Amino acid sequence: MPAPTQPSDIAREVLRLFASRRLPPTPDNFRTLYHEVSGIPAPDEPFPEKFVRTLARQLPRDTSERARLARLLDQALAVGKADVARQALAEYYDSLKAERPPAWNELIAELLRQWESRQAGWTVARKRESLERVLAASDPQTLHARLQALVRSWSQAPAEPGTTSPPDMPVQAVAAKPAETAAPEVRLVAASETGGLLAGLRELLLLTLESIAPVFLADQPELTRDAAEFSASVRRAQDAGALQAIAKQLRKFAYRLEMLAGDRAEVHTGLLNLLRLLLENIDQIVIDDQWLHGQMDTLRDIVGNPTSLRMIDDAERRLKEIIFKQSQLKHNHSEAQRSLKKMLAGFVDHLASFADTTSSYHDRIEECADRISAARDISEIGGVLDEVMRETLAIRDEARRSRDELRATRERVREAEAQMAEMQRALDESSHLVRHDQLTGLLNRRGLEETFDKEAGRARRHHNTLSVALLDIDNFKKINDTHGHQAGDDALVHLARIVRANLRPQDTLARHGGEEFILLYPDTDLDQAHAALVRLQRELTRAFFLADDKKILITFSAGITAWNPGETLDAVLKRADAAMYEAKETGKNKVVAAGMGGFT
Ligand code: GH3
Ligand code: MG
Ligand code: MG
Repeated sequence: MPAPTQPSDIAREVLRLFASRRLPPTPDNFRTLYHEVSGIPAPDEPFPEKFVRTLARQLPRDTSERARLARLLDQALAVGKADVARQALAEYYDSLKAERPPAWNELIAELLRQWESRQAGWTVARKRESLERVLAASDPQTLHARLQALVRSWSQAPAEPGTTSPPDMPVQAVAAKPAETAAPEVRLVAASETGGLLAGLRELLLLTLESIAPVFLADQPELTRDAAEFSASVRRAQDAGALQAIAKQLRKFAYRLEMLAGDRAEVHTGLLNLLRLLLENIDQIVIDDQWLHGQMDTLRDIVGNPTSLRMIDDAERRLKEIIFKQSQLKHNHSEAQRSLKKMLAGFVDHLASFADTTSSYHDRIEECADRISAARDISEIGGVLDEVMRETLAIRDEARRSRDELRATRERVREAEAQMAEMQRALDESSHLVRHDQLTGLLNRRGLEETFDKEAGRARRHHNTLSVALLDIDNFKKINDTHGHQAGDDALVHLARIVRANLRPQDTLARHGGEEFILLYPDTDLDQAHAALVRLQRELTRAFFLADDKKILITFSAGITAWNPGETLDAVLKRADAAMYEAKETGKNKVVAAGMGGFT
């Protein structure tokens, strides 16, 4: 039967099919039957753009892939690309199929474990409240993600002191050993250890912020203030959240400290370079002064390798000496120049007046010569000759006076030169003698005072010990009497050399006058200083001193004492001297330590 073509026929046939197939009379069914009966193919379904757009807005974008596909879908819909939109939707659907169901079993086990553990700042009530908030999530994915985050935040909080389960104990252990049956003392110890460790770490952090940081930040008021604020926050912090906030700030603080340390290292290197340049410059200016060259070399060595503060102190001391010497030299030099100028000016004045005198003499003599040649008889000449005699005698006196004055001037210049040479020599000596003993080259009393002040200051700051010893050569007078004063001097130099060779770089040896020496032993207690002095005695007996080709044994007696914070050099030397006296009294060639209340 051919397909009906009239709309009324088609309608009738459609209604018949509705009845025979028992289809509900919906517009969709009607449309399908209509196309079937009429034989007219159904036009392509229009893309349900509006519907898909609503759908797209509601698609969860919880993974990066889904977010990408949803975005693609949005863009395709916006420009009417149905194919692309279809493809994006299909891929989105696949991504849902590919998804693994969340691992609820592991999460619940962890939740239980963390629920039973006790974390600082997480009371049971607070845990319950957070859990209830998380459980309000509308879909399983969100619930899983939020629950995971919550459990993680519990596990990262520090354990509460005295908790019964350390936070990182495996879940199985908790399940296998309920609190009552597990060995409680072992778990308590572990927990309290964790608590103790955390408290200790907190104290260390406070110590760093309150005691260590300010020392290095004395010139950085802003960073010092930050450190103080951090320590106050650390003291206030009650829970993991607060600590995490502090940790974040601390990281920034550490970064700023790192920058500061970098800057300081650069400044340090820059200053050393400047100093090196300055040294080179001075070296070229002072060409003639050998003494200065020696000092400069030493200074250059120290600046080239500034390994310790002591060496830098030493460099500073030497530089001060050089500056002092230069200022003296400059002053004397300009003084000498001034006086030479004055003398020269006087000499030139004198020459001028002498020239005046001689030129008027020449004029007079010439006049006399004219008169003589014009004279008609001898009586006229007699008067002229008298005049010539007078003038000649006057000029002779004048010449004599000039000669004497010139001699005197020359003498004064010579004296000034000698004075200048003497000044130069005295300067050379005095610059060095300011702090050093001329005979032995050791520090003298003034040098010792300066070094003592520095060492005592350092010992006070670092809470270190500082031992002080006084040495006196035994029977020194006898060496002088037997072998002469020069041998005595040589013996002093010998002792200084041996002692110096056996000291640590940080120890100080000074000559106290006569045959007495002072030793400063930083960071050394009495026992160690005693041992060091006994070692020195041994070394001295090994290294013979020769006088008149005879081997002479030099020994010393020593008193040692520990410096007490705040004590002056005089006070500490008085005690060391009393101990040394004790050593002399009890047989010499020994070391006696003075304690606070007596001798050992
Ligand atoms: P004691 O064992 O009791 O210390 O006896 P001593 O002979 O070492 O001590 P005393 O104080 O009786 O004599 C020290 C001598 O040292 C006296 C002094 O002439 C001499 N003296 C001091 N300074 C120097 C110096 O620079 N050179 C020389 N050669 N002798 C010096
Ligand atoms: Mg003496
Ligand atoms: Mg002596």
